Amino acid sequence: MSHAHDRLLWIDGRAVKAKGGAWFDTFNPGTGQSICRVAQASSADVDTAVAAARRAFGEWKRMSGVARGRVLRALADKLREHRDELAELETLDGGKPIAETPEADVDSGADCLEYFAGQAASIQGEYQEVDEGFFYTRPEPLGVVGAIGAWNYPLQIACWKSAPALAAGNTIVFKPSELTPLSALRFAELAKEAGVPDGVINVIPGFGDVGQAMTNHPDIDKISLTGGADTGKKVMAASASTLKAVSLELGGKSPLIVFDDADIDNAVSGALMANFFTQGEICTNGTRVFVHESIRETFLERLLDRTKKLKIGAPMAADTDVGAMISESHMQHVLSYIEAGKAAGAKCLIGGAQATVAGCEGGWYVEPTVFDGCSDDMQIVREEIFGPVMSVLSFTDEDEVVTRANDTPFGLAAGLFTRDIERGHRVAADLEAGILWINHYNITPIEMPFGGIKESGIGKENSRRALEHYIRLKSVFVARGAVDAPY
Ligand code: NDP
Repeated sequence: MSHAHDRLLWIDGRAVKAKGGAWFDTFNPGTGQSICRVAQASSADVDTAVAAARRAFGEWKRMSGVARGRVLRALADKLREHRDELAELETLDGGKPIAETPEADVDSGADCLEYFAGQAASIQGEYQEVDEGFFYTRPEPLGVVGAIGAWNYPLQIACWKSAPALAAGNTIVFKPSELTPLSALRFAELAKEAGVPDGVINVIPGFGDVGQAMTNHPDIDKISLTGGADTGKKVMAASASTLKAVSLELGGKSPLIVFDDADIDNAVSGALMANFFTQGEICTNGTRVFVHESIRETFLERLLDRTKKLKIGAPMAADTDVGAMISESHMQHVLSYIEAGKAAGAKCLIGGAQATVAGCEGGWYVEPTVFDGCSDDMQIVREEIFGPVMSVLSFTDEDEVVTRANDTPFGLAAGLFTRDIERGHRVAADLEAGILWINHYNITPIEMPFGGIKESGIGKENSRRALEHYIRLKSVFVARGAVDAPY
């Protein structure tokens, strides 16, 4: 039996039931209520989706870059036309404040499609004269891309992965996180309306076993994952069985350094954006905030002043600053870190508990929390929490803070606030991170490469660099004259 609002898989340009007939519920984190049932893919559906993507690849790769770009541009326009609807869907399924989702999710996805729509026509090979002839290179798409998404930016991730993949002539099978499948399914419907040929974008909601089936699949040519570092290691190991290329956007525990000459109000703004946007559920968050001892008190005073004003509320309410955690178990996970911080002797200056929102009693809310008096070896300072929990650490010396900032297996992002231009660039060069912000935090223009180093990942999304991960070069040698064989 199926219900009116049930959502199906999207394969080969239409909604289809899962082969195994299984369903799961997706929940509204703001209320804890089920939104609807979603068809649950299994490995049999992976096979069907991959076969559809393979068939579609034949036509899609033969289209010119200009023609593919035109389709992607139409999809960007579709997203903008449906901006309010998509933002509401993302807020409903993900618990993020409606004040964020139109710009951070929908516009960011549309910008990406628009950017790669333009890039599609610019993909070129090279040509060179050499002894005995010449060669040229053909940039070719890889084939079928398997994309696996995290739950924190589901629509944005669907766009960030499909735009460069499609621009280069690949087709895609996308598995959103089972916690947030709705916006990617809507994205696929809009893609069809925009003229994306059937089979070019397939969306198969499901659990980790579906991701696993994708990584092991012999007819998927590449895996692009956004997720945790442990998942990244499993995906890379499994991809070795068929030598698939992988791009991995993983977690982090990024440092934000506030030097004594910083503009303190800007630094406080940066620290707030680095910790409380999307309830702290952002991979690049600067959760280790190193503040120079000489300005620590002033910084903390202003930080607390502004943190107090943040409104925790129903994600759909226009004045909400901090929404709901993605799930009850994730909320418990974040709260357990807060308890670990208190037990280790860190001083909880504000927050530190679950929050209740009137009218949304079943929702999963955590107060924005600031710990002071943290030390480098505390669990809250070493591990990714993925919630609204900031650890403030003190320092006095530049070399010391750089060494401490780099003392982590992660290397996703870092930020620093200073008015000293030389120091800014010197420290930026020394910090081990894939993305670095000087006097800002967490802005990700589509033109700038995005991705981590160390255990935070492999490869870049956004920018022209992303295309390199979806293209392989074929070298074609063309001989001139007779073959001079030594035999
Ligand atoms: P997970 O690593 O748990 O899951 C990511 C995706 O992988 C999900 O779709 C998941 O399915 C799937 N998956 C799980 N196990 C496997 C497997 N063995 N093989 C293949 N796929 C699998 O991450 P979360 O969804 O919990 O997201 C949070 C994490 O993502 C954080 O660590 C965060 O830092 C990181 N992240 C990184 C970003 C970046 O760009 N660097 C951006 C956003 C988040 P299922 O959901 O069903 O388990």
